[in-house]
Amino acid sequence: MHELGITRNIVSIVAEHAGDRRVKRVALEIGRLSAVMPDAIRFCFDVCSKDTPLEGAELEIHEIPGRGRCLECGAELELNEPFGRCECGSVRIECIGGEELKIKEMEVY
Ligand SMILES: [Zn+2]
Repeated sequence: MHELGITRNIVSIVAEHAGDRRVKRVALEIGRLSAVMPDAIRFCFDVCSKDTPLEGAELEIHEIPGRGRCLECGAELELNEPFGRCECGSVRIECIGGEELKIKEMEVY
């Protein structure tokens, strides 16, 4: 489960920014194409945040839909998987969004 390592990173970045303060809320953006399961992040967050300034913080996860662009006709389409088919029939789709995983906001006391 690679989410554990990802969550550890998130917790350590947020803890560093928080300094001596306790963290009230963390908001993450997770792209649908990032291969990261939000539920797994939630689970790992409880484990990883123990004994850190993030313990008990509220975790908000915003899922970002995937976006692709057709390499044949240039049309943009929404993707829920890292592949798809354009209306023109092409399967040559380039991912242009939805692969991100980032810390959007954090709130401290
Ligand atoms: Zn197309």
